[in-house]
Amino acid sequence: MVPMITRTVAAGAAIAGAVTVAALLLAGAGRTGATPDRNRAVAAVGEARTGRLTMVLPAAVSDRIYAAPSAVGRPIVVIDAGHGGQDPGATSVSGQVHEKDLTLALARELRDTLVERGRVRVAMTRDDDRYLTLDERAAVAQRLDASTFVSLHMDSAPNPLARGATIYSLSDVASDAEAARAAAADNRGGSDEAGGGSVAAMLSDLAMRDQMNASAEFATRVAGKSAGRFELRPEPHRFADFHVLRRAAAPAILFEAGYISNADDELLLRDPEHRKAIVLALAQAIEADVATRSRIES
Ligand SMILES: [Zn+2]
Repeated sequence: MVPMITRTVAAGAAIAGAVTVAALLLAGAGRTGATPDRNRAVAAVGEARTGRLTMVLPAAVSDRIYAAPSAVGRPIVVIDAGHGGQDPGATSVSGQVHEKDLTLALARELRDTLVERGRVRVAMTRDDDRYLTLDERAAVAQRLDASTFVSLHMDSAPNPLARGATIYSLSDVASDAEAARAAAADNRGGSDEAGGGSVAAMLSDLAMRDQMNASAEFATRVAGKSAGRFELRPEPHRFADFHVLRRAAAPAILFEAGYISNADDELLLRDPEHRKAIVLALAQAIEADVATRSRIES
C-alpha cells in the first residue's frame, strides 16, 4: 500500500496521472539501477491495474461526435488514426512521410465521407498530431459505447516488394508469422499495462468471443468491398492479437492500408485520389456491418 495511491483511488480521474507517475518512476529506476523507489513503483502500478482504473479517459482526448443532422441516434463509429506525436510509426521508403501523418489524413477523409453519407455518427481518437496509448484509444470506444472501431495503419516490411492492404481482426492465435510480427509491432505503441491478461484467459468470456466473431465478419465485409478497388495482399483478412482491438469492446478491425516501405504503394497512399477508393470501401463496409447488426439486435 502506497500513500500516494491510497489518496488518489478515491479521486477517480486522478488515477491515470498517478499511474503515469508510477510508470515514470519505474522507468527511471530501470535506467539508474535499483533504488528504494523501484519496489514502490511496481506496487503502485499493480494496485491500479487490479482496480481497472487505468481505462479512465484523460482530459486531453475529446469526446466530440461528428454527425449529419439526419444521423441523430445512429450508431457511433470510432476511427483511430494509428500512432501520433512522439510515436511516428513507420517512415516511408522515400523518407518524406511518416505513418502517423498518412493515418491521420485517411482518418479525416473517412470521417468526412461517413458524415456526408449520414448513416452513422463518427468519433476520432485523435484529430491532431498527439500521442495516445493503446488503452486511451480503446477507451474512447468504450466510453462512447461505440458500435464499431477501426484502427488505421500503414504497413512496412524489410521486403521492398511487399505491397497491398491487409485487414486484421482479433484472435488469440496469429494466422501467420507476418500477422504475429505486425501485432507485435503495433502493440509496442504504448499500453498503460505491462501484460493485462492473456487473450486465452479472456476467451472464456462469452462477450469477448462474440466480439471476435463480429470483428471477423466485419473484416470479411471490408475485404469484400475492397476487392477490385485497390491492391490487397493475398488472403487479405488475417488474424492477430492486437492490444487495441482486444480492449475496444466493440467489433473492431485494424486496417493496414498498404506498404509505405514499397515505392509504388507510398506514392498511391500519398495521393488523395487513391485514398478515396480506400475510404469508399471502408465506409460501405462499415455501414453494411452496422446495419446488419442493428437488424439482428432489434
Ligand atoms: Zn502502425
